[in-house]
Amino acid sequence: MTKRALITGITGQDGAYLSKLLIGKGYSVFGFISRRVNQNFSNLDYLGITNKIEYVFGDMTDLASINHAIRVSRPNEIYNLAAMSFVGLSWQEPIYTSQVNSLGVLNLLESMKDITPTSKLYQASTSEMFGNSVEKNGTQNENTQMIPRSPYGFSKLFAHNAVRNYRESFGIFACSGILFNHESPIRGLEFVTRKITDGVGQIISGKKKFIELGNLEVRRDWGFAGDYVEAMWLMLQEKKPDDYVVATGKNWSIKELLSVAFKYAEIKDWEKYIKVNPLFLRPAELVTLKGDSSKAKRVLGWSPKTSFDDLIKLMVNEDIMRHSIK
Ligand code: NAP
Repeated sequence: MTKRALITGITGQDGAYLSKLLIGKGYSVFGFISRRVNQNFSNLDYLGITNKIEYVFGDMTDLASINHAIRVSRPNEIYNLAAMSFVGLSWQEPIYTSQVNSLGVLNLLESMKDITPTSKLYQASTSEMFGNSVEKNGTQNENTQMIPRSPYGFSKLFAHNAVRNYRESFGIFACSGILFNHESPIRGLEFVTRKITDGVGQIISGKKKFIELGNLEVRRDWGFAGDYVEAMWLMLQEKKPDDYVVATGKNWSIKELLSVAFKYAEIKDWEKYIKVNPLFLRPAELVTLKGDSSKAKRVLGWSPKTSFDDLIKLMVNEDIMRHSIK
């Protein structure tokens, strides 16, 4: 029988890659989308799947619309990717961030409990929940203490705990993927990787003279979104629901990212194209994130396939091409 999946946040980066994966596996994919004056399907267009999805309108803050989407789609699997996902903005929109990322998830869990308790749920948790906590070896795993440092981080931690609680209290098959940063050529332009690769594309085409950034010393564990959506799917194919860290286990500073990105644009002296703007410094910063995904490897058989260099090369080449034809 054809499996049915409901994906919230389907127009985002991960929603597009996950839809492509599930369509390839023969799923009927339903996309839960907020109404927008100018609906943006560019990520789904990029992967050539916009017309292969059935859309249901709704908003994570509106329980009635979630109930409706679940009744219409009758999903075997639900992937909750919808979020106000930009950490930097969450200090300016903390209440909205929690309405979507925390209470929105509670809406979804309540809806599942009442309407479709046998559906399986994937919840998009994040390494931002850890804050600056690290194990002795400098990594974060599923048991590392979570002390988030941003409204985005604490909104996601609420949801993470709610998912575990509904699993334990009501027997719902609900998993949280604690994903570390993952990127692609369709990553939002506000995120630092894409800001840099898009900036390189603009510099090469003469549209821009420099890129403005915040703290260049922070270190992140960056992987490829196309690899990470496979881990989401694998979690829901297990016999028992559980939470998993998904990461590469390596990390790089923004300076290192800049040097790799400019290398693929054949520019050596990248420093002269960078301006540090205090406006982009965060009220509280995470110094370093490096995930230990050995549990995902052991239980799910998952490990990342794309190297950091290949990821950045892919993004730079795509952005150089986009700007050369505009
Ligand atoms: P993204 O590109 O920002 O996509 C977010 C999606 O959520 C968009 O489709 C957006 O639709 C939708 N959305 C926002 N508010 C909504 C609402 N109130 N109701 C319904 N839909 C809403 O994010 P992503 O990078 O694909 O990430 C997917 C998920 O993984 C997010 O939950 C994110 O927080 C989490 N995560 C991401 C990373 C990462 O590195 N990418 C790491 C860890 C966790 P509109 O554009 O129409 O608003």
